[in-house]
Amino acid sequence: MGVASAYHLKKNNPSKRILVVDRYGAPGQGNTGRSNASFRNTFSSSDNQILSNSTIDFFIHVQEKRNVDIGLQKLGYLWLMDEGQLSRSEPYLQGMERNGIEIARYQKEDLRRLLPSMATEFGSDEEAALMELPPVDGGVFGPKCGRLDPDKLVRFYAREFTNMGGEFAFNTEARSIMIGPSKRLGKEGEPFVWQDLKIEGVHVHGVSDEALGAETVVLAGGAWENELLEPIGVLCNVKAKKRQLFSIQAKGAKLERLLHSSGFNELDLLPFVILPKSGVHFKPVSEENVFWVACEDEINRPFIDLPEHDLEKYRAERDYYEKSVYPILASYFPEFRDCQIKAMWAGLYAYNAPDCLPYAFRENNLIVVGGDSGSGMMKGDSLGRIWTLFTARKMRRCFMARFPIVHPN
Ligand SMILES: Cc1cc2nc3c(=O)[nH]c(=O)nc-3n(C[C@H](O)[C@H](O)[C@H](O)COP(=O)(O)OP(=O)(O)OC[C@H]3O[C@@H](n4cnc5c(N)ncnc54)[C@H](O)[C@@H]3O)c2cc1C
Repeated sequence: MGVASAYHLKKNNPSKRILVVDRYGAPGQGNTGRSNASFRNTFSSSDNQILSNSTIDFFIHVQEKRNVDIGLQKLGYLWLMDEGQLSRSEPYLQGMERNGIEIARYQKEDLRRLLPSMATEFGSDEEAALMELPPVDGGVFGPKCGRLDPDKLVRFYAREFTNMGGEFAFNTEARSIMIGPSKRLGKEGEPFVWQDLKIEGVHVHGVSDEALGAETVVLAGGAWENELLEPIGVLCNVKAKKRQLFSIQAKGAKLERLLHSSGFNELDLLPFVILPKSGVHFKPVSEENVFWVACEDEINRPFIDLPEHDLEKYRAERDYYEKSVYPILASYFPEFRDCQIKAMWAGLYAYNAPDCLPYAFRENNLIVVGGDSGSGMMKGDSLGRIWTLFTARKMRRCFMARFPIVHPN
């Protein structure tokens, strides 16, 4: 979200000197580099639909019109559901269709034909009964959904930004935001409450300790935003939560066949699949011949107020995969039985606590961008593009009112 904002800010203000300060040694080393990096335009909220749809348009434009490989694959997203889930989702699906979001509905028979190995019901299977696994009665498919390579995307933004004259300071930590009076009087104790305030810049720690003055400070600090905002009394409501990914080798003919399932997309690859239980999902990563598997465990996964700076402190849990995720996965897709984890890692979602919508707001000459809520890859571009275009002078909270889709040029 930071590097997309920097790119659009520089593009819309070519004469401004813009410096991106990052604690890590290169762009995209935070949660972006740990992301599942998938995208979908299928959201129940129309704000999210606009943000993601417009970001996807930009990604397609970059890869197909500008011929920059960002690893984009339009795999599609496939939600597998039982009858109850299908009927509960129907009003949302109709809302999406009214907003022009393309979706397709699959009957059980279609799915049996396309995914012949999938269990759609469990009969007397005791383990499935214990886990209360719903049958698969149908599916919903989003064709304008897929995955990309976060590293390649970030390198695209960073390259374009530097080509336009933007600058980076890596291995540099912003320690605090400096506030002062907009008119300095030289009296001890300034700023007083009767003085107008402005953000003067940031104190950084890198090669040396420095005070960097700035006309405007943009904070896109992901899961760490509270650390800089709370000391200056600005609320952003971000709450971090650990998320994990498990990479499973597509070993053997059955798993390879599943990975290369045809009939869903032009790539003849399995789509991103969401199972009807506990949000367990998986997608093919064809260039590595693996599946990435994950689960949306909301309740019973604690929030973290001030996350560690070193993301390596957040470890993926083998037990969590083996005891919670795998039994569901292998029940629906038996070809995963006894497959070993090839790699696993964890990162942080940065939830915008009130409504899980990303935000951009202004506090004097400080602009805060964030609240990805686990979908910052697929909304980061439009968020950066919109706030930098609408310079946000009047913008305060609730930025996500009704902005028109701004098409990439
Ligand atoms: C396991 C997992 C799976 C995910 N899957 C998806 C997905 O499929 N699709 C999707 O859209 N999103 C997904 N996400 C979410 C997505 O990764 C994030 O929304 C996105 O990466 C957020 O980008 P960001 O730039 O805000 O944060 P980050 O990439 O974390 O970057 C924040 C940057 O701020 C810097 N920083 C913070 N504080 C300071 C400071 N004081 N001084 C200097 N630098 C500082 C950090 O060094 C870091 O580089 C996933 C996340 C995880 C963890």
